[in-house]
Amino acid sequence: MSAPRLRELEQLHDILDRLGDEARVEVLTRVEHRGQRLPVHGVVLGSTDRTLPTLALVGGVHGLERIGAQVVLAYLHTLVELLRWDEVMQRSLERARIVFVPLVNPVGTLLRTRANGAGVDLMRNAPPHPDGRASFLVGGQQLSPRLPWYMGAPETPMQRESEALCRFIERELFEAPLAIAIDVHSGFGFEDRLWFPYARTRRPFPNLAEIYALERLLDETLPNHVYRLEPQARNYTVHGDLWDYLHDRHADRLADGGDGAARVFLPLTLEMGSWLWLRKNPRQAFSVLGGFNPMKPHRLRRTLRRHLPLFDFLHRATASPRRWAFPEPPVRERLTAAAFERWYAD
Ligand SMILES: [Zn+2]
Repeated sequence: MSAPRLRELEQLHDILDRLGDEARVEVLTRVEHRGQRLPVHGVVLGSTDRTLPTLALVGGVHGLERIGAQVVLAYLHTLVELLRWDEVMQRSLERARIVFVPLVNPVGTLLRTRANGAGVDLMRNAPPHPDGRASFLVGGQQLSPRLPWYMGAPETPMQRESEALCRFIERELFEAPLAIAIDVHSGFGFEDRLWFPYARTRRPFPNLAEIYALERLLDETLPNHVYRLEPQARNYTVHGDLWDYLHDRHADRLADGGDGAARVFLPLTLEMGSWLWLRKNPRQAFSVLGGFNPMKPHRLRRTLRRHLPLFDFLHRATASPRRWAFPEPPVRERLTAAAFERWYAD
């Protein structure tokens, strides 16, 4: 029997075939599925120096949300083509690197499930934090892999895919003075949201000032942008969120003494509002993928181009952090107060 085709992986291979010397590609892990071993790739574009500012794009954590991986692949495609002729882009990647994990959960993508092949929701798979207060079920559960939002059995190691993603992010981002990660999902609400930590608690997270400064920069630079920026926990709280976990790991490493250099790590989740696609095309609610993906070709194309300005903005913001990402203490205090007022006062 021939192996079932995984379109996103084929597309990724096509893109990788066109890569020149500016890129490094590695297989972070392989995941078994019915005798096949499906790869999870990591791609690094630009300088080899990990102490430079770095932007990470991640897709395909939830297999059902195929549009997430497709949006990330669309940006990777454009960058690979730009690298062939655009000297401005070549130079800017020498200042700020871009790294990708475009398809974290290949088995889930193949099976059209949110979870991986073992029934584990990878975005609930980090070790739970004592501060965590999860919403019932959707916040992560350890009752059964047959129910959604399964975190994995208690006291077991992380799944291969989550572990590989975390290892890659720690290695490629944690030495950077500024690192931004954006993990692309779909399925919640009518709007495109940009979520920042925490997911586990409604308490404010330590980089409020930097997030608020980034939002101001986004509002000023792209005044007609479509995003609502907010803490993830404003919608629901979850156990085992990988970005909460990575942000904690980053903070621990700084607390461990390190070299005293300022380092900022801002993990964002782009949650594309799929209810809009449903409202415009209610019949797709009856298909497995329809709740999470644009089904009409013109809407798919619109979605694939819609986020390119955001990614380009984030790369520029990453490459030029001095004006916004490291505010002096009095400014930082003002930004924190304004952010608190905006997101936590009610
Ligand atoms: Zn998702």
